[in-house]
Amino acid sequence: MTPQRKLPEIIQPMQFIDLKSQLELIRPQIDAAIKRVLDHGTFIMGPEVHTLEKQLAEFCGVKHAVSCANGTDALGLGLMAKNVGPGDAVFVPSFTFAATAEVVSWVGATPVFIDSLKDTYNMDPKSLEQGIIQAKKLVLKPAGIIPVDLFGQPADYDAIQAIVDEYNLWIMADGAQSFGASYKGRKVGNIGDMATTSFFPAKPLGCYGDGGAIFTNDDELAAIIKSLRVHGQGSDKYDNVRIGMNGKLDTIQAAILIEKLKIFPGELVARQKTADAYNAALKDMVSVPKVIDGTASAWAQYTVLLPEHIDRSKLMSNLKEAGIPTMVYYVKPLHLQTAYEDYPTATGTTLPICEKLSERVLSLPMSGYVGSEDKIVEKIRICL
Ligand SMILES: *Cc1c(COP(=O)(O)O)cnc(C)c1O
Repeated sequence: MTPQRKLPEIIQPMQFIDLKSQLELIRPQIDAAIKRVLDHGTFIMGPEVHTLEKQLAEFCGVKHAVSCANGTDALGLGLMAKNVGPGDAVFVPSFTFAATAEVVSWVGATPVFIDSLKDTYNMDPKSLEQGIIQAKKLVLKPAGIIPVDLFGQPADYDAIQAIVDEYNLWIMADGAQSFGASYKGRKVGNIGDMATTSFFPAKPLGCYGDGGAIFTNDDELAAIIKSLRVHGQGSDKYDNVRIGMNGKLDTIQAAILIEKLKIFPGELVARQKTADAYNAALKDMVSVPKVIDGTASAWAQYTVLLPEHIDRSKLMSNLKEAGIPTMVYYVKPLHLQTAYEDYPTATGTTLPICEKLSERVLSLPMSGYVGSEDKIVEKIRICL
């Protein structure tokens, strides 16, 4: 190793998600893109917003990509477009970020919490069926499902689709963590009746602020969502035909995303390489994440399941001392959280798998710029 190669490692502590290296790589393009927006001055719904939407739709192979203010609004707009309301049950995994369930409460519907699979961490189709029966018992109308592509891997959509067909429900895929991933030949965005994503900085494709998008092949749904994101506008801004919200993506963020999308395919390859290196080195020590056949993850997180005898907090502090940042996603499943504990679960009581997952998962540094997998796994080997 040359001294020049070694120097930055000493100066910069390792980041859990390395956004700095990416910015260094494309700084001139980002500066120029922001400058173009400052020069033309159309900060709201400027030309970059429309260009980005076209590029996003092309990338996913879907008819419509509608940008919006963040990944939470994307989910909320989807529920509003589907007219979800009081009396409706929407099935969501409990082992996810709060936004997935939060939006269901926004519209007055009832989130029903579903258990997870212990090898992929995604929604368990068997638990989903149980949840539908549970909802009917509570005199709720099963309306739709929000599967989450947790940590970047698409949920098992074939298994979920079979249930959807039986009960006549819709699917809105929460792809906040999985933009760039694919499931059996289809890209995330082109799965389900609708799919959403987030461009929060730490997501696989992130901007420098908040951002999000909704994807659909349904012309009518796309038109409704476009209206909802500008206060339910009709033929013009001051003709309001439905109750909507202010949910637009800033032009500056769109301009940034256009530049980031150019290097995104290469970053996905780099993330996969990092995951492969982690898998190879760690598979004998911990349960490494299972990726189902025909599926490619976007690797928003690389999350392992620790053996039962390992003290996770101690491991994390030892790794921190060794310069390796780690995180726990998620410490508490949603059905056990104060804001959500009164909502139903699939079993009517506990959700044993996701409760166990929350106690034993650990996420390792992941981005398109890790570059020190050997050092990381060596330290983990020592600390375990
Ligand atoms: C990040 C995230 C969201 C919300 O996205 P924001 O852009 O932060 O609003 C929703 N669902 C999941 C699973 C997420 O990880």
